[in-house]
Amino acid sequence: KAKTSGRNRAVVYQEHMNEVLQLERTIEAELREALRTTDQLSVHFQPLVAQKTRKIVGAEALARWHHPKFGSISPVKFIPVAENSGLIEDLGDFVLRKSCALGAEVPGRTIAVNISTTQLRNPGFAARVFDLLYETGMRATDLELEITESILLDDEHVSAQNLRTLRSSGIHIALDDFGTGYSSLSYLRRYPVDRIKIDRSFVSQLSDGHDSVAIVQAIITLAHAMNIQVTAEGVETEEQADILGRLGNNTLQGYLFSRPVKADEIVAKFAGDPEVSGSRQVA
Ligand code: C2E
Ligand code: MG
Ligand code: MG
Ligand code: MG
Repeated sequence: KAKTSGRNRAVVYQEHMNEVLQLERTIEAELREALRTTDQLSVHFQPLVAQKTRKIVGAEALARWHHPKFGSISPVKFIPVAENSGLIEDLGDFVLRKSCALGAEVPGRTIAVNISTTQLRNPGFAARVFDLLYETGMRATDLELEITESILLDDEHVSAQNLRTLRSSGIHIALDDFGTGYSSLSYLRRYPVDRIKIDRSFVSQLSDGHDSVAIVQAIITLAHAMNIQVTAEGVETEEQADILGRLGNNTLQGYLFSRPVKADEIVAKFAGDPEVSGSRQVA
């Protein structure tokens, strides 16, 4: 009996895997098509807010895909497919181009762009970023590239070289989703970064007396000791923002301030919040 149910379980698992693979192939084919005209694709921007002044100092670019039949598809679903299929090259280029176009329009504001590990492994990546900055007229110092901790484990020379080249031109590098991966601050000596973004999973637990307060405090203290700025992701309540302020956090991002919005809406938000001295000052 155990054998049969074991076999059945294997069959069910196999069927499930087939469905998953089929879905991935469908997403890949549809995304390939979407990238031909890019009509279904867009980039939204979520405000980055200075902790002390609560002014909008920049925005993070987030890819959006609206499929005519399937509706909105989350980047959590299509980014991994894009990475596994090589489509991330074209998609990443599209996002960077839109981000640089916005950045040129709003000098002095930081535009943060998520970069996949796959893109960084391309030897031509840094040159491509410089081309886009030149074409659009965006300043290098207004661009921030968000990479994930997985890159820190990547011994590949190419990624490290790209990061060094980009950084030496004044582009800032942020480590995204900090705390979810390997989080060894010792890696930060090998790949210097300007900012870490504390993952939403820590921020969402922030309340007085909770362990996560001590964790976030430790991250901020270490980061500042290494001259690294800190952004807290996924801030949804005034209590979280308040605790983060007490812990010395630099920049806030989350639904408490705004959801990601269209390019023209972020331009309007910037225009309505003009007194900005920049997001780079250390608290
Ligand atoms: P991420 O880079 O960590 O981006 C932050 C995500 O958190 C976004 O989800 C944003 O909408 C969401 N978020 C912001 N504030 C809050 C909040 O207060 N509460 C909650 N619950 N969520 C909040 P989104 O847009 O669905 O993107 C998910 C992930 O997909 C991103 O995480 C990033 O890893 C990836 N991604 C999105 N666009 C791109 C892209 O252009 N390129 C690459 N390589 N990855 C991208
Ligand atoms: Mg990000
Ligand atoms: Mg993040
Ligand atoms: Mg995150």
